[in-house]
Amino acid sequence: MDQRTILRLATSVPDHDGFPLVDDLHARFDALAAAHPDQVTVTRIGTSRLGEPLHSYRIGSGSHAAVVVGGVHPNEPIGSWTALHLAETMVTDQVTAEALDTTWHIVPTIDPDGMRLNEAWFDDPFDRVRYARHFYRPAPDSQVEWTFPNSHGSVYFDQVLPETLAFMRLIDDVRPELLVSLHNGEMGGVYYYLSEDLPDVIDTLHAVPRALGLPLDTGEPESPYLRELAPAVFAMDGVEAAYDYLEGLGVDPGEHIHGASSAAWAMRHGALCVVAELPYWSHPDADDQTPTTEPYAELLRRCADELDASGRELQEILDAASPMLTIETPFLEGSRAFVPMIAGMVDTDRARADREPAARVATVAERFGCEDLVRCFRLRYGGMLLRALESETTAGTAPAAVRRLRDRLAERYASWQADEATGSEPIAISRLVGVQFGAILACASHVADPTRASRPSLATTTTGGA
Ligand SMILES: [Zn+2]
Repeated sequence: MDQRTILRLATSVPDHDGFPLVDDLHARFDALAAAHPDQVTVTRIGTSRLGEPLHSYRIGSGSHAAVVVGGVHPNEPIGSWTALHLAETMVTDQVTAEALDTTWHIVPTIDPDGMRLNEAWFDDPFDRVRYARHFYRPAPDSQVEWTFPNSHGSVYFDQVLPETLAFMRLIDDVRPELLVSLHNGEMGGVYYYLSEDLPDVIDTLHAVPRALGLPLDTGEPESPYLRELAPAVFAMDGVEAAYDYLEGLGVDPGEHIHGASSAAWAMRHGALCVVAELPYWSHPDADDQTPTTEPYAELLRRCADELDASGRELQEILDAASPMLTIETPFLEGSRAFVPMIAGMVDTDRARADREPAARVATVAERFGCEDLVRCFRLRYGGMLLRALESETTAGTAPAAVRRLRDRLAERYASWQADEATGSEPIAISRLVGVQFGAILACASHVADPTRASRPSLATTTTGGA
C-alpha cells in the first residue's frame, strides 16, 4: 500500500464528540460481528480482575498476523475509536483489507475495569481540568502494559495481572508479525515508539500527522534515555536501557522498573511493534525549537523544585489520612504508588541537571515540556488522591479529620486548576484516530511487503522480557 493511499485513509476517519463508554464500545464490536459473521470471529481470551470477560475479534484471513490492543492504559481511550475504525475498515473495505493481507486480532479494551473509572470525562475530553478531576491511572504494577514478566539485573517481576495473562496468551497463540499497543499522551504533539529502524515506515509516520495538521512533539522526550530513530520517533529498547541509565545516575533501578511491556513479549516472536502517542491538546510551544535564555540544567532544577513542592503536599495529606482510611479503592492504591514516585522523579531530574553542560540553553519546546509535566502530574495525581478521600466522605466512613484533609486538598487542587496552561487547543478526535490508524496501516503495509526480508527467528530476538 503506497503512502498516498495511507494518507487518504488516515484523513477520512469520522469525527466524534467524545470517547465511547466501555459498554458502548463492546456493543459496537458485537454489532459488527453479528452483521458480518463470515468475517468476524469473537473469542474469549480471559477475564478482568472484576470478572468481566475479555474478547478478541478476529477479522479477515490474510497470511500475516497482527494483534491490536486498546485500553492498555485505561486513561488513554483514543485507541477505542481506532480499534473500532480499523475493524470496520477491514470488514467493509475489501481493497484495503486485501492490500494488507492480514488477519487482525483486535481487543477493544484489555482493562475494562480501569477504563470504567475514567468514563466520567469521556463525554467531554476537551476540558483538561475536568479530565484530570475524573482521571484514573492504575498503579504501575496494576497497568496491563507494564506487567509482563521481567528479569534483568536486580529487577525480577512475575506478578502478572489476569488481563496481562490474557494478552500474553493471545500473543503466544497468534505469534504476530505486528503488535500495536494503543496508547496516547496528553499535551503537545505526536510521537511514536517503533521496535525497528525502518525508514519507509518512519517517513509515513511523519507524513500522516503532517497531512492531518498536527505537530510532531520534538521537545522533552518522555524518558531521558530514549534513543531517537528520527524526530519524534523513538526506539523500543526495552527495560535494559532504562536500567543502565538509572544505574549510571546512582539511582536504584529496582525502585523504578517493575514489569516489562507487551512489546518485549511480542518481540520474542519477531513482531514489529509500534506505539503512536497522541495528545488531546496541542500547544504552539510544543514544537518550537527557538532557544530560550534559560540554561537547560536550570530549567530541570526549577521544574524539579516545583514538582517537589506539589509532591510533598500530596504526600503530607496522604500520610495524614492513611491511618484513617478504610476503603481500599483503586484511587488509593494508585495514590500510594504515584505520590511517592513524584519524589523519585524529582531526585532523578536533579541528578540529570548536575550532568548537563552549563552552556546548554533550553528550547521553547523543552521549557514547555518540563513545565507542563509539573502541571500534568499535580492535576492527575492530586485528582486521584481527591477521589480516594471522597470515596470515604461519600461512603460515610470518613472521620472529621479526613473531611478536613479532603477540604484542604480540594482548595489546593483548585489553585492548580487555575494555574492550567493557557493557549492549548483541543484536537478533533478524527485527526487523533487518523494518526493512529495511519501508523497501523504504515506498519501493516511494511509487514505485508513481499520484498521485505523474512523476520528473524525466535531464538535471536529473545529480550529481557522473557
Ligand atoms: Zn500509555
